[in-house]
Amino acid sequence: MSQIPNFNLWEFDPIILTKSKIIDKALFHYDGWYGNQAFCELFPDLYAKEVHKNFSVAELLGGADSGLTWRWNWSTSLDVNEEQQALNLQGLLADFSLHPTNQDQWRWLSESNGVFSVKSCYFSLLETRQAEYVEENVLEAIKRLWKTDVPSKIKVFGWRLLLNKLSTRAALNHRGILTNSHDLPCVFCFKQLDDSAHLFFSCSFSKKVWSIVLNWLGKTLPLGAEGWYHFTLFGDLFNVKDKGCVCYLVWLATSWNIWKLRNLVIFKGVIPDASSVVDAIKLSSWVWFTNRYGRKSCYPFSSRCLDHLSCIQNS
Ligand SMILES: [Zn+2]
Repeated sequence: MSQIPNFNLWEFDPIILTKSKIIDKALFHYDGWYGNQAFCELFPDLYAKEVHKNFSVAELLGGADSGLTWRWNWSTSLDVNEEQQALNLQGLLADFSLHPTNQDQWRWLSESNGVFSVKSCYFSLLETRQAEYVEENVLEAIKRLWKTDVPSKIKVFGWRLLLNKLSTRAALNHRGILTNSHDLPCVFCFKQLDDSAHLFFSCSFSKKVWSIVLNWLGKTLPLGAEGWYHFTLFGDLFNVKDKGCVCYLVWLATSWNIWKLRNLVIFKGVIPDASSVVDAIKLSSWVWFTNRYGRKSCYPFSSRCLDHLSCIQNS
């Protein structure tokens, strides 16, 4: 089993301050300028008695002229417990290295030079966030998918489909976005829930589309195959060394056009028609193929529609 990250970027707070700089903009009580938690949460009793709750760190510190001593201003005198908390707070701050002449700056702790990078962010997220296990079979399918010569957005679509992460009605219902049961059925047959397995592989409409496409290719696939298994079996139909480049082109063109049509039905009220979507599949695969290999390297569109396999195997 391997892992891929499953995280929510909006929950992640990547900004962590260096301890070597005096902070003149950070609010002492509210900003997590020392560690990850604000002092108002760490020392709520002291915070309640602080008169200058909105002071920045620098204001509370008093600047260089004051000899860098903390200028607490309690509304009433502290009781014994609060005195102890104040000592604990002083102890934490004593460990803090302050340089009044240095300028404040944010520092990204995941890089030794303190500069943010997407790469380090990615690895930080991998280390700190929950990971989701993905089966080896799916990972192998995804590897082949990334090698396929199709536009990036189609790869991302295929990736989401293989991981079952498309925004189907079932997925939106699972997230609490679509709650009305009338909004959940497949828009092609209205008999089953609109989830990826049904929409792309089990729906009578989609099965008809796949059947025409496979007939065009002169191939068959076992009944009941879906998802990564369907993808892998489809690639194995072709006697081509590098499974990544062109074998999955028609598979992606088919699933992409089924998805596009599904969205047109929902948002534009289009009436689904299998032969039209198959024409769109042939066009998509021809455009992607010729964009990669050049129009002179293959048959014109009309010929390729008749002999897709030769076209792929001669590429
Ligand atoms: Zn259906």
